[in-house]
Amino acid sequence: MVVAAPLSAWPWENLGFYKYLLYGPLLGKFVYSRIQEDTPDETWCLYILIISILRGIIHLLWISFSNMLFLNRNRQIIQKGVDFKQIDREWDWDNFILLQALMASMVYYIFPCFENLPLWNTKGFVAILILHVTVTEPLYYFLHRHFHNHFLFTHYHSLHHSSPVPQVTTAGNATFLEQLVFSTVTAVPILGASMMGYGSTSMIFAYVLVFDFLRCLGHCNVEIIPHKLFETLPFLRYLIYTPTYHSLHHTEMDTNFCLFMPLFDALGQTLNSKSWQQHEKITSASGNKGRVPDFVFLAHVVDVTSSMHAPFAFRSMASLPFTTRLFMLPLWPFAFAIMLMMWAWSKTFLFSFYYLQGRLHQTWVVPRHGFQYFLPFARDGINKQIEDAILRADRIGVKVISLAALNKVCFFFSFFFPIAQKSNTENESLNGGGTLFVDKHPNLRVRVVHGNTLTAAVILNEIPKDVKEVFLTGATSKLGRAIALYLCQRKVRVLMLTMATERFQKIQKEAPVECQNYLVQVTKYQAAQNCKTWIVGKWITPREQSWAPPGTHFHQFVVPPILRFRRDCTYGDLAAMRLPDDVEGLGSCEYTMDRGVVHACHAGGVVHSLEGWTHHEVGALDVDRIDVVWKAAIKHGLRPVSSLKIKILYKLILCVEKLRII
Ligand SMILES: [Zn+2]
Ligand SMILES: [Zn+2]
Repeated sequence: MVVAAPLSAWPWENLGFYKYLLYGPLLGKFVYSRIQEDTPDETWCLYILIISILRGIIHLLWISFSNMLFLNRNRQIIQKGVDFKQIDREWDWDNFILLQALMASMVYYIFPCFENLPLWNTKGFVAILILHVTVTEPLYYFLHRHFHNHFLFTHYHSLHHSSPVPQVTTAGNATFLEQLVFSTVTAVPILGASMMGYGSTSMIFAYVLVFDFLRCLGHCNVEIIPHKLFETLPFLRYLIYTPTYHSLHHTEMDTNFCLFMPLFDALGQTLNSKSWQQHEKITSASGNKGRVPDFVFLAHVVDVTSSMHAPFAFRSMASLPFTTRLFMLPLWPFAFAIMLMMWAWSKTFLFSFYYLQGRLHQTWVVPRHGFQYFLPFARDGINKQIEDAILRADRIGVKVISLAALNKVCFFFSFFFPIAQKSNTENESLNGGGTLFVDKHPNLRVRVVHGNTLTAAVILNEIPKDVKEVFLTGATSKLGRAIALYLCQRKVRVLMLTMATERFQKIQKEAPVECQNYLVQVTKYQAAQNCKTWIVGKWITPREQSWAPPGTHFHQFVVPPILRFRRDCTYGDLAAMRLPDDVEGLGSCEYTMDRGVVHACHAGGVVHSLEGWTHHEVGALDVDRIDVVWKAAIKHGLRPVSSLKIKILYKLILCVEKLRII
């Protein structure tokens, strides 16, 4: 059994979210003093609470900024993604704020000099600056170097260095003992200036908040200090560190120990000789294009609430599957305003990235929400955005781009709308659309992939082999047609719900003659009242769902997903696949998908890219390629997500039914 070193763990480690209740006594004390007469003024409690909130806000703003890849991708110091492991390890990055709030309360009781502090005292600012430079900086430097000694490093400081990519959250990620020591060092100038009689509330606020700001700066992994500043005022480089400077401490560890002032590294002869060179290299390279991704997934925003599920909004929330959380609701108007601003000004932007087998994969987002795709007057604008994104990908040398749910529907349908009107069937129009797009840009080097072949493969592989009959809605859509044609060749009877007899017959004629009678046109939901496998490709109402017999499983390829209304039935998720285990730097969840899971159309593009296929996957689905794409996906280590879950559910349903019969 490994015993943790003393004071390495946090005392409230097991409290989880409830640790915030420890701020409660401060709030209680302040409120009590306000309602109860004849009690001393306890406004200091309120000040501690306000400063703690402001410190949290400073960190959150820095986290947001450093995750805005569309602003700073070319200024990233370490060009790696932050993975789920690091996010989880740094989950409680704000522990030190709580610790310092509790320490501040104790200090208030011990030292009477904090009573009745004035709001402002200029002398205090001078005193605290002098104390910081002469006491805190050298003391921190000295202690930090000692924390790199074998014992202290192994048991305490290694946690701070365990994050491969320094992040704002890394700044606060340290063991309890370390934070106790460093907090004491931070408190010295505040205590000193106040004991001299120069203390003021504004001095304490300013010192603590500037301190946090500089800690965040050093860990943000984005170089924002221009090198020109140091060229003009060379002495400045010894007075203030840069994100590159502290990043070198994280990667090389035996240099750059200082708190904020490289002067002390210079004095202690631990200044990394590459510091300024690297700083210049990163700032001067920030105007360059950066590495070209091998693959791009072109996504869109689903709705206003889910727009907050982004690493630059709430990184920790974005690392979990999306669900609506209470704290998001008051922020809804703000997110709505952002949506309007994006509609007016934004272009497709870089959202996230990860590496797979050494290849760079990026997600770009079309700045439009789901509902906008259904507004006729917004369609032209959306299609222009999508076309521009594809052409940009082509220009910079991206090899494969795959389109998310509404992007392909909107694009392929509306972009070629005049053709659609001429053709007799929806399939022809979509089919023609894909072909025509490639025709319009014959020299396109980027391969455009709708990813529907893999989506079909995922759905088809979820259907147990012993199923003899399925009911299919959205039966004449691209995916519906492919699923029907594939299943009838497996001798599965497909009840295809469609009013359009002509379209149905056209699909039926595509099937081999001996399989054609397995495709059956139905026009009412009643026809499926004995069929327990429903494949939903067109949204169905709870009323329509009520025709399904108990124990039905609803597979679906419809956006948004259908309401889970039937208690006696089970519902599949949208088709998805798990990325291979060797994926690197993946730290956000794709909408409601689990960690490491992506929508099948995303996975389809990944497979296309890994296989190096040179054809575009546009227009109608080639049924013969379903198995080819599936095998390629499995070969590259992508794994089905829900097949196991669904098989277990089917077995459970069968057991329950057997019990009923007994
Ligand atoms: Zn260190
Ligand atoms: Zn650090």
